[in-house]
Amino acid sequence: MAQITCSFCGRNKKDVDLMVSGISAHICNFCIDQAYQILGEEDKNKKPGKNVKVKLKKPKELTEFLNQYVIGQYEAKKVLTVAVYNHFKRLLQKGEENDDIRIEKSNIIMVGDTGTGKTYLAKTLAKVLEVPFCIADATVLTEAGYVGEDVESILTRLLQAADYNVEAAEKGIVYIDEIDKIARKSDNPSITRDVSGEGVQQALLKLLEGTVVNVPPQGGRKHPDQKMIAVNTENILFICGGAFDGIGRHIAKRLNTQPMGFNKYVEDRQVDRTNLLQYVTAQDLKSFGLIPELIGRLPVVTHLDPLDRDTLKSILTEPKNALTKQYKKLIEMEGVKLVFEESGIDYIVEKAVEYNLGARGLRSICEAIITDAMYELPSDDSIKELVIDAKYAQEQFDKSKFKKLQVA
Ligand code: ADP
Repeated sequence: MAQITCSFCGRNKKDVDLMVSGISAHICNFCIDQAYQILGEEDKNKKPGKNVKVKLKKPKELTEFLNQYVIGQYEAKKVLTVAVYNHFKRLLQKGEENDDIRIEKSNIIMVGDTGTGKTYLAKTLAKVLEVPFCIADATVLTEAGYVGEDVESILTRLLQAADYNVEAAEKGIVYIDEIDKIARKSDNPSITRDVSGEGVQQALLKLLEGTVVNVPPQGGRKHPDQKMIAVNTENILFICGGAFDGIGRHIAKRLNTQPMGFNKYVEDRQVDRTNLLQYVTAQDLKSFGLIPELIGRLPVVTHLDPLDRDTLKSILTEPKNALTKQYKKLIEMEGVKLVFEESGIDYIVEKAVEYNLGARGLRSICEAIITDAMYELPSDDSIKELVIDAKYAQEQFDKSKFKKLQVA
């Protein structure tokens, strides 16, 4: 009988653990292993981000996508999508070396009350752009050498989001939340060290303007024997967001004291005092306590509108993954039809406004109202429909421990 040998390496059947036979060839377990590894390597090379091809999407296309998830906030959407579009055009700029006109980076700062959708906008945007995205919290950052995280830790997170593909990370988007919390405490440069404020702003500057930063791959503190990964931040888009509580005062003051020009503007278009954030400028951010150098690195300033009743109602019902749609799906899995009556929805919105919880509160209120049903329904086959109207919503809400939640 003819000897069976591996058609790839020539090993004899008796020298291997396993030989797989095909129509007219054989392969041994060693060659299968090797082929598998080659496949893995190839896959890695194909991963999004390797030789990252950036797909250019137009601002209107981007806005259309955002509209499916984020309600309202048209100004922020316009400013964000234009800035992102320009940013990617910049990435695609060819022959940069010889081009005299270099498009500068357009990092963004968003000002808006908490829960108005700043993070959500940035996250949704990153989804459509298919680039690595991470969220960092400015409150945990401190100057190097102090207890807390170095600013480089932000890039660790981005690297992790990019599966340690440096090239992909270098084209990613970083959302830095609560940027207002590192504002200088007083308008005068302090003589004592301001560990969590100005020092961090200085450290952030370096990242925002675009340099090569040595990043500890696992985060944490840098130490001498740690292997660092060099990341160039030149093409990373930074979007910063903050509530800037009290910035309205600075805006109002500026509007009132505008020497010339603005008074005319005021006459032409009455200032809307219920939403002062819409007039926010770099100057107000400076008065609030951001250093001018940092503001200079965040040239695009935009705002988010406060959420009124109508917007909250839309958030509850309209987006692709709106809360009411999620609950309907959950309850449907029990074979029960869930109906939200208009009055029930109005009640939920009313409570979110009353408790001043914004969009984030909608979920807790829904939970408070529907938890009982979600507990009972799985064990009760007789119920085929659940209607949430104002009466049902109120009964459940009053039973809930929601009032405690408000204290917390
Ligand atoms: P912020 O970052 O401004 O504090 P988030 O982006 O975290 O607020 O918003 C909290 C949640 O509220 C989001 O996850 C989202 O579900 C919901 N939300 C807030 N604003 C909107 C909006 N304009 N459209 C749809 N959902 C929103």
